[in-house]
Amino acid sequence: MSALPSSREAWEAAASQIKPEGRAFINGQYVPAKSGRTFTKGSPIDGRTIAEVADCDASDIDAAVWAAREAFEDGRWRDKDPATKKAILLKFADLIRNDVATLALLETLDVGKVIGNSIAVDVPFCANCIQYYAEFADKLYDEVAPTGPNDVAVIRKEPLGVIGAIVPWNYPLIITAWKIGAALVAGNSVVLKPAEQSPLSAIRLAALAKQAGIPDGVFNVVPGFGEKAGKPLALHADVDMISFTGSTEVGKLMLVYAGQSNMKRVALECGGKSPHVVMADADLDAAASGIAWGIYYNQGETCHAGSRVLVHSSVKAALIEKIAEVARTQIPLGHALDPNAQMGALVEEKHMERVLGYIDIAKGQGAKVASGGNRVTSGDLAKGFYVEATIIDDVKSTDRVSQEEIFGPVVVMTTFETEAEALAMANDSIYGLGAAVWTKDLSTAHRLTRGIRAGTVWLNCFDRSSMATPFGGFKQSGFGRDRSPHAIDKYMDYKTIWTAY
Ligand code: NAD
Repeated sequence: MSALPSSREAWEAAASQIKPEGRAFINGQYVPAKSGRTFTKGSPIDGRTIAEVADCDASDIDAAVWAAREAFEDGRWRDKDPATKKAILLKFADLIRNDVATLALLETLDVGKVIGNSIAVDVPFCANCIQYYAEFADKLYDEVAPTGPNDVAVIRKEPLGVIGAIVPWNYPLIITAWKIGAALVAGNSVVLKPAEQSPLSAIRLAALAKQAGIPDGVFNVVPGFGEKAGKPLALHADVDMISFTGSTEVGKLMLVYAGQSNMKRVALECGGKSPHVVMADADLDAAASGIAWGIYYNQGETCHAGSRVLVHSSVKAALIEKIAEVARTQIPLGHALDPNAQMGALVEEKHMERVLGYIDIAKGQGAKVASGGNRVTSGDLAKGFYVEATIIDDVKSTDRVSQEEIFGPVVVMTTFETEAEALAMANDSIYGLGAAVWTKDLSTAHRLTRGIRAGTVWLNCFDRSSMATPFGGFKQSGFGRDRSPHAIDKYMDYKTIWTAY
């Protein structure tokens, strides 16, 4: 597909034509699972079947790790001239950009996000990330340590070897790019295990990588389920590092697997429950916009979504009204293939039930639904897993909906009277991924942005970011950062070469 469809009908037509590749990509070839087994991938937008996907297991992981190891050891990628490496990665970025129509459609069909965002955000951000890291290929310097006159101590940064990347379903292309961009520019080989809910765009990326000139064995994609394919990857003795993004619960397993196997490095990007702290003097229109977009974008399936609002009691009612207004007027829920929709379907039925379950839990704990709260059960959205933009009011900071990650279009409101109380509640979480502070008072802003323990704290804005800033969490939101030059470091190790003469 080349031209970009501009109507729902045109996207429907494209969707009816597309025949996604569902096989694994190992050592430069598409191959079925060794067992021959597949699983059927349905779409959350309306339940249609999209593809049969290879249901890989330990034997496929083994083949991919072996291919990655061989590619690493013979230096076909890591020893390439830096300028050539850069040119290949830049070509990879271009091929992704040029493939926007197909990649965006696969992403939307797979996970239910709206097509407009897949086109404008997911695909270009993926390409930009690969481009960003490509540019480092000929700009990474080693160091020479201070020594006496008869010695030279060179500190070389070397790639780790084989990287196992395990990723979630909410931003499949973007998070995959964060991992492979930094890992590949550092000279590693990669075995990627996409989430079982979202394998299709990653499988296609592999062919584009090959077309760009990334040698066989350097980038492998092995689809499958967590226990069956992810676990053997994380336990594999020939994998040097697991770079994981997903839930905190599964992230903790990565540490166990590393300990049970070869003490491989682990980097974890896990869950979040990001607070907005809205002071009485805040610009409420700006805060409402930041809060609404920050929770309803991507149906709330965003790790750093601002999912709990801590608001001064004097402005709560006005703020709720404004958040609901932004949602109603700017973020329409619609069919994921409708270019005008801003909120699409949740990723699968089980997840939708979980989200709706949390709304019931909140009601059971005495909170009340101020807006939304339901699955869409009429019209053609009833065939998919669509949930309304929801605001839950009168929530205590200790309530389950304030402590646990809902991962859907649900924001919970809690009031405070003093700044100290707001800060304590903001930090009363096992997570520390993101946070926002809304105030016009400079001193309050300084105190709160310093005091909140989170990987990113936004002041009077939300979710602004670029490849230039590191992304990741404090506490049980994980450790290790994606994006920025810092991400490259975690895929490398230091070697000292000491010469006396
Ligand atoms: P998940 O933890 O269920 O799955 C993530 C990946 O781990 C998938 O590929 C899955 O197949 C695999 N997996 C599951 N069990 C495994 C096991 N036992 N061994 C090895 N691999 C296993 O998470 P999810 O539902 O796909 O994604 C949602 C979660 O991801 C949320 O908690 C969200 O906050 C988090 N997330 C975090 C970030 C971040 O950067 N911090 C970004 C996006 C998503």
